[in-house]
Amino acid sequence: MKVLVINCGSSSLKYRMIETDTKEVICKGLCERIGIGGGHFKYDVTGSDKGFEKDVEFPDHNTAVDTLIKAVTDPDTGVVSDVSEIGAVGHRLVHGGDKFTEATYITPDVMTVIEECSSLAPLHNPANIQGIRACRKVMPETPMVGVFDTAFHQTLPEKAYLYGIPYEYYEKYGIRKFGFHGMSHEYVARETAAIMGKDIKDLKTIVCHLGNGASITAVKGGKSVDTSMGYTPLDGIIMGTRCGSLDPEIVHAMADKTGGSMEDVMQVLNFKSGLFGLSGNISSDMRDIEEAYESGNEAAIRAFDTYIYSIVKYIGSYLAVLGGADAITFTAGIGENSPFVRKHICSYLEGLGVRLDAEANEKGRGARCISADGSAIKVYTIPTDEEMSIALSTVEVVNRHNV
Ligand code: AMP
Repeated sequence: MKVLVINCGSSSLKYRMIETDTKEVICKGLCERIGIGGGHFKYDVTGSDKGFEKDVEFPDHNTAVDTLIKAVTDPDTGVVSDVSEIGAVGHRLVHGGDKFTEATYITPDVMTVIEECSSLAPLHNPANIQGIRACRKVMPETPMVGVFDTAFHQTLPEKAYLYGIPYEYYEKYGIRKFGFHGMSHEYVARETAAIMGKDIKDLKTIVCHLGNGASITAVKGGKSVDTSMGYTPLDGIIMGTRCGSLDPEIVHAMADKTGGSMEDVMQVLNFKSGLFGLSGNISSDMRDIEEAYESGNEAAIRAFDTYIYSIVKYIGSYLAVLGGADAITFTAGIGENSPFVRKHICSYLEGLGVRLDAEANEKGRGARCISADGSAIKVYTIPTDEEMSIALSTVEVVNRHNV
């Protein structure tokens, strides 16, 4: 089945068409600067020079979807002759609260519930909803499926998702851990089982999604049992610009000492902290931090060491929660591409019998085992593919609903 995967932000729309039978990407691209002027459209066709890019004004998400559908159906540039050849549309949806435990066929009732979840992700869910509406307009007959960032973590036990605050805050206001990057964690856990040649039901895996945003998940038998992000994606390990876990009194202290408002403090914690803030604003980009580290820059060394330490603590706690693990898998921009980060994390784990294969870590490419023979826990690096994960979940839902 040809599935169009849509990932809508407030001012952008990323898309990818995937033939799920062969897992082949047919075309992909991006509509940039929606609603803010100076729009740009990118369209790539795999193995062909039919792709193009051009400046287009996108006053809203409808025009973005119109432009992309024109490109994919156009007799000269297209990859299908008609929209009816697109079997389904899979929408990435950031927050499904505790209402959605899996990818879901989007009906009018489901739309209402997705709208209700908007208060949990005010920056993301409204844009996701606009994307669904825009696709409905041009493809009214095509099944639409919502795939949620939070759904994979709905298997967390109560003791993992509750915070140590009065229970009524959970009951009345739904304050609990949700967890994010669910599609990536699920996909990478499945791929880890595949590369090991084992049934995922028999495996305990710690997935480290280390990108600009980053989270770590303990996966047991294919189910998420704990994860480092929380009520919001600010919690957990130190990230590019986000602080990760901290003592809540620090928020109070920062406001008090700077005279800033609560919003000012939250801006700092979201956008000026993490690697960026710890390094004294060198960069939020790990490549820059590594370069500065290697030239002996003390601020970069401080930021890097603190970052690694925060990751190791989560891995350690998940080893305890799982009662040991069969595999630790690294993914996303840093996890896939930084041997330096992987080496530093794994060197902490040597006391637990983890042994890296230095050559596989440094020189290999793509999905592979990077631990040495005899390592007590196998270590992998596996490229994440959230779009593929969305496309495969979409087909499953469409087949289940027989639409
Ligand atoms: P993502 O959010 O998954 O796109 O990941 C972005 C992060 O990956 C940024 O911090 C990049 O610096 C980092 N990254 C990408 N390539 C490399 C690399 N070769 N070495 C170290 N970090 C990298």
